[in-house]
Amino acid sequence: MSVLDDIVKKRAQTEAPQPKETKHAVAILGAGPAGVGAAYYLAQRDDVDVALFERGPRVGGNSASFQIDGVWCDHGSHRFHPVAEPRIKEEVKKLLGDDLLTRPRHGRILLKGRWIHFPLKPVDLLLQLPKGFALALARDTVLKALPKKQAAEPTFATVLEQGLGPAMSEAFYFPYVEKLWGLPPSELAVTLAKKRVSGSSVVKILMKIARQIPGFKSPGAGVFHYPKKGFGQIIERFAEEAVAHGADLHLDTEITAVTRDGDKVTGLRVKDENSERSLPYSRVWSTLPISAVARMMDPPPPPQVLEAAKAIKFRGMILIYLVLETDRFTEYDAHYFPELNVPISRMSETKNYHNTDEPTNRTVLCAELPADPGGDYWDKSDEELGALYCEWLDKVGLPVKAPVVRTETRRLRFAYPVYNRDYEQHFNVLDEWMSGVEGLLTFGRQGLFAHDNTHHALAMSIAAVDCLKEDGEFDQDLWAEHRAEFETHVVED
Ligand SMILES: Cc1cc2nc3c(=O)[nH]c(=O)nc-3n(C[C@H](O)[C@H](O)[C@H](O)COP(=O)(O)OP(=O)(O)OC[C@H]3O[C@@H](n4cnc5c(N)ncnc54)[C@H](O)[C@@H]3O)c2cc1C
Repeated sequence: MSVLDDIVKKRAQTEAPQPKETKHAVAILGAGPAGVGAAYYLAQRDDVDVALFERGPRVGGNSASFQIDGVWCDHGSHRFHPVAEPRIKEEVKKLLGDDLLTRPRHGRILLKGRWIHFPLKPVDLLLQLPKGFALALARDTVLKALPKKQAAEPTFATVLEQGLGPAMSEAFYFPYVEKLWGLPPSELAVTLAKKRVSGSSVVKILMKIARQIPGFKSPGAGVFHYPKKGFGQIIERFAEEAVAHGADLHLDTEITAVTRDGDKVTGLRVKDENSERSLPYSRVWSTLPISAVARMMDPPPPPQVLEAAKAIKFRGMILIYLVLETDRFTEYDAHYFPELNVPISRMSETKNYHNTDEPTNRTVLCAELPADPGGDYWDKSDEELGALYCEWLDKVGLPVKAPVVRTETRRLRFAYPVYNRDYEQHFNVLDEWMSGVEGLLTFGRQGLFAHDNTHHALAMSIAAVDCLKEDGEFDQDLWAEHRAEFETHVVED
């Protein structure tokens, strides 16, 4: 049992929370990085009482970790990226201490039948890249300098092709995004190219590669941070400190409604194993999917808002954990599969993330299989998915020779926001209505429909706390400024 479990259990034996009258009471919905981050920073203020509600059994949301046969596992490959804002990096380092490791990235991409080191390395690239493909990249770089006609209605596909050229787009990005989002690149919005592709031109990608050369290396290039007890240890530590500073954390507690009187929020309905009850709150900060919150408003919002909630989509993901009776499967942390010949997008072996030999004779391979409820894979059993996974590994030249102990799976209903071409108009309808409900704030990856990293979710939580003024008012103008900053977040893989 973790320190956090212990504290929360003791608290659960006391009475259900009621916001105290002397302080500004804030209810936070969802204990992923955004919710826990907000609880952590709010709990350090004397003028705020904070309660955090999470339907799952642990904190961390999609960034949580858990053990399988003594191996720490994440919800797919998770790394703490050195590009995080310095103040967030410092906070994480302070909370984790020696448990936060700095590790070299050591992955591989399967491209046109060749394994290419990821992050890209100059010599490896020269040796491994098929010659025809390398020539096509060079040709695209030269042609890029020539003036081009702008596409009448830009999409992810047109923007990427103009930036990277057809060779890189068609071989790598187009199949990869089709796999991740389940839509052809021509159906995806420009936003995705801005948020997803951190090297947006061949020249920028070449610069990134050049920075791998000793002497040209920028700080943080080719390394990542990872905690000894899985990625989720980061948010566990934030949560432990939040609780130590007085935040009330309620796990296994589902939000079933957000109540309002006209355009003012009045409270919540929460359900745990014992009861469903109403709690009065005039400040509700939600990190739940924005569409889910619209549906749980009581009374419901106008029909056009509910229609918009139905229209925006999140992509799901099945995580398949293959437990093997061996010390290690490969030396690599992650394998990336951009092509459509196998449906998994990435495979990670967490023992290689923190370079541990413990436990012996066990390793776990986590596959990321983008999928949606009702689709081909969602309802398959663990055994069926395990068998398919072994077939796919065989197909990419990584046959599983060690005995398979068993397969476990986890399903993320909200893995990626889907930026299809009309998502923005629907999101704006939702966002505008939600923003008009006094006391209600929606933020975090799911709340702002933002394809982002954990450090971005933490940045949002700091921004939200910054906007809660001493008199209890929420500074909407300042929040608008912070929202403009969030638009500049670029996701790291
Ligand atoms: C496959 C994958 C790989 C990733 N890799 C990285 C990486 O390498 N590095 C990185 O920094 N980031 C990575 N991310 C992103 C990271 O996981 C997210 O940015 C982060 O978890 C977002 O935090 P959040 O708090 O906004 O949302 P979430 O983590 O989604 O948390 C939302 C919380 O709300 C809870 N909730 C939902 N509905 C209810 C309800 N009705 N009642 C109560 N609680 C509810 C959920 O259970 C969840 O705990 C990755 C994401 C995915 C999917």
